[in-house]
Amino acid sequence: MERILILIPFISVLVVALIVVLKIINNTTNDHNSSPKFQESKTTVRKNTRENTVAVKKGARGENSVSRVLGGTIEDKQYLVNDIIVVDENGKTSQIDHVFVNKYGIWVIETKNYAGFIYGNESQREWTQVLAYGKTKNKLYNPIKQNGTHIYILKKKFKTNLPFYSLIVFIEADISNVTADNVINIQSLRKTVWTDTGKSITPEQMKKCYNKLLKLKENSGVTIEEHIENVNKMQKDIKNGICPRCGGKLVLRKGENGDFYGCANFPKCKFTKKIDG
Ligand SMILES: [Zn+2]
Repeated sequence: MERILILIPFISVLVVALIVVLKIINNTTNDHNSSPKFQESKTTVRKNTRENTVAVKKGARGENSVSRVLGGTIEDKQYLVNDIIVVDENGKTSQIDHVFVNKYGIWVIETKNYAGFIYGNESQREWTQVLAYGKTKNKLYNPIKQNGTHIYILKKKFKTNLPFYSLIVFIEADISNVTADNVINIQSLRKTVWTDTGKSITPEQMKKCYNKLLKLKENSGVTIEEHIENVNKMQKDIKNGICPRCGGKLVLRKGENGDFYGCANFPKCKFTKKIDG
């Protein structure tokens, strides 16, 4: 009996401590649960902004690698212009990482700083990045299609028959599972651009092309910050069911490869967005 009496103060302290701990846990959980919708949208916007900033910073690192490997502009031999922001006919901005000009043609280079293993082919809409022995999988928009848009815009602005080539350059990822010719490692970049393409352009044409690129870079009128803002706005629009291209309404459509969101103004506007997941 006496032993139990001695234990009473200890038990009381234990119970009080337990109550305090439970209360703290409860408060923390409540913080997360308050107005979940607001919390969610806030988090998403913040996440997107950070991802895009990271993408641009990573791009800058890739750019340095490309400049290092190819060297910069050398009059009459080669010309390199980085970070050209272009606006397409829908007012959408996109960033062309590098354009390298030599006697073999105009090389439009898109650099990717992904780690891990990349899976994809020319026709797939999205590629897959696999990390941590398959534990993490991320989707990325097919960079060949992305760079195809860049070349389309450049050709349209240049109005030229000069040969354009698309190159997707991965800085560190394992791309042995990518089945497309123009997707290479940074290690193969130099060799690739100096392999005879069977076409040749004169030093005058090279110089003219370089000046056009510089002009395009100066006159895009869009800064990197505005481009990031543009990308963020586009993601926000899609989330709100608005077509980022024309401002129309997005409607759910059934396609052969699954459901997707399409613009209600189709066929005038051909914007589509695959449903995630
Ligand atoms: Zn639209």
